[in-house]
Amino acid sequence: MNTFLLSIVIPVFNEKENILPLIGRIVSSIDRYNYELIFVNDGSLDNTVEEIKLQSKKNNKIKLISFNRNFGHQAALSCGYNFAKGDCVVSLDADLQDPPEIIPEMIDKWKKGAKIVYARRDRRQGDNLFKRLTAKIFYQFINTLSDTPIPQEVGDFRLLDKEVVRFLNSLTEHSRFLRGLVAWGGYPIEYVSFERDKRNAGSTHYPLSKMVNFALDGLTSFSTKPLRLASIAGFLSASIGFLGIIYAVLGKIFLPAYWVSGWTALFVGIMFLGGVQLITIGIIGEYITKIYREIQKRPQYLIKEKVNL
Ligand code: UDP
Ligand code: MG
Repeated sequence: MNTFLLSIVIPVFNEKENILPLIGRIVSSIDRYNYELIFVNDGSLDNTVEEIKLQSKKNNKIKLISFNRNFGHQAALSCGYNFAKGDCVVSLDADLQDPPEIIPEMIDKWKKGAKIVYARRDRRQGDNLFKRLTAKIFYQFINTLSDTPIPQEVGDFRLLDKEVVRFLNSLTEHSRFLRGLVAWGGYPIEYVSFERDKRNAGSTHYPLSKMVNFALDGLTSFSTKPLRLASIAGFLSASIGFLGIIYAVLGKIFLPAYWVSGWTALFVGIMFLGGVQLITIGIIGEYITKIYREIQKRPQYLIKEKVNL
């Protein structure tokens, strides 16, 4: 019996050409279930909202939440989770890189007891080598530093049981690296494989600069080891400096004739130490920024309007 409710959450930002094909493919994959389709419009500047409204007039299971402005992908996803009423909630991208056809497979695994079903990209022909490589480096890096293992080749295309969604909604954290938070909960996991397609229309909203920010955010949310590394770097360079002092004093006393005061060593030393200090201050700054944002307690998003909700 398919008596459960399935919620689908889709953050959208300037995706006007993708809305219609997306809804078509989703609805034909899931119309045997009792479902709701929640679009979270993250301050789109094109006709995305009009496209969605048109569809939600024809089908009241298609719902829309619109933000005042762009608050970011993770904020939009969090908002979707807040409003989703389903027994299980699937999140996916609007650009058809995530094929909705595998949702029934995810639901089967959920029915067998998994609380989280990740869609794992076994092949990513749709993403270029650069994106694949940077993603790989990032996940390896974060997994070396973090105490919470974050699964690789997994994005925001996943099914969550309502228990996990409730857990996410209960978190008061402002900065939300959802991939990490989902993994942090330690719920039973299953995987479904898929091939990541090319973006249907439009171009990515994650250029390198945004990817770096996303990565730094994830890293500082899930690990304090960079602070430890900064301390270790401090100790190391201080030790080297201490040895240098001994060397200089002994040299002055025992080899006065050969002792030439060179500026190269001085220059290198200053540059190196200056660099280490700046990096260290930068690392501390990252965490202070985090604390600052948490203390401000500003809302994660502001809602302008809701349709069918
Ligand atoms: N997105 C969003 N807010 C943003 C950027 C992106 O809601 O500020 C949405 C976007 O519409 C898409 C999903 O997040 O549904 C993933 O974005 P994109 O496809 O650009 O990222 P990529 O797949 O290239 O990593
Ligand atoms: Mg995409």
